[in-house]
Amino acid sequence: MPPAGTARLIDGKAVAAELRAALAARIATLPFRPGLAVILVGDDPASAVYVRNKDRAAAAAGLSAHTIRLPATTPEPVLLAEIARLNADPAIDGILVQLPLPPQIATQRVLAAIDPAKDVDGFHPLNVGALAAGQPGLVPCTPLGVMRLLAAAGVAPRGARAVVLGRSAIVGRPMAALLLAADATVTVAHSRTRDLPGECRRAEILIAAVGHAGLVRGDWIAPGATVIDVGINRGADGKRAGDVDFAAAREVAGAITPVPGGVGPMTIACLLENTLTAALRRR
Ligand code: NAD
Repeated sequence: MPPAGTARLIDGKAVAAELRAALAARIATLPFRPGLAVILVGDDPASAVYVRNKDRAAAAAGLSAHTIRLPATTPEPVLLAEIARLNADPAIDGILVQLPLPPQIATQRVLAAIDPAKDVDGFHPLNVGALAAGQPGLVPCTPLGVMRLLAAAGVAPRGARAVVLGRSAIVGRPMAALLLAADATVTVAHSRTRDLPGECRRAEILIAAVGHAGLVRGDWIAPGATVIDVGINRGADGKRAGDVDFAAAREVAGAITPVPGGVGPMTIACLLENTLTAALRRR
């Protein structure tokens, strides 16, 4: 581990920009344009922003981007029919349904209806199973982005003690599976963990994905550790804060991601990467 002091900043914005440029260059050489379809049901403002950003980034990378907007009252069969149409469309390589979905729609049924080969969010049970079994598949974008950040920062998971805070299906669990596949020794800690600070202090690589601003204190961090903050929490002032007390952690850690500008930009870049991966495998 590098020595403690003022931690090196891991600049997710810069790493994501590099990844996006490399993907755009690769896509420009293809004899076809990979297609990404994003479905937004309802008018949740945060979801609308995410979808617009995904659409723009996809178009900028040279993908053919399609946003399908459906009303909040959409019955589940209508959404399933839309997914079936996209599954059958040879020009579409990636399908993403923006979550959360309105209450009349069963999220798990919808995710399971997406063709696993086009499942660029990696939430289909087949892809979840492939990741758990250490087999190739499509991997959720946020944890994949964290792996790309670690690589860019020169942090090797092999043999390292990694602690993942949070066990959600979207971040914590796939994160743990990816670190395990990369030969880290992985601990998953969560809301029922008895000694959260103690578990964190053992981490050479600490990944926080909880959704609780400033939960991880400076004295929970081992000197020189790499700290990746996935959390995005909106303060009363509207500003975004991570799960880690950044100012305190920076004095102890060896390297750390900021919020914003850390993991966030990597998620969209990895969605583009997954769309390219899906396109190359399918065609
Ligand atoms: P979630 O609510 O589904 O899961 C949170 C997890 O944290 C749970 O497993 C829970 O057990 C654990 N937890 C809750 N309180 C805890 C506590 N006090 N101590 C220890 N563990 C606790 O959330 P999620 O979807 O996994 O997202 C986590 C955070 O990451 C959120 O802030 C979310 O906004 C953010 N996020 C960021 C990106 C990105 O692109 N950067 C993507 C997805 C999620």
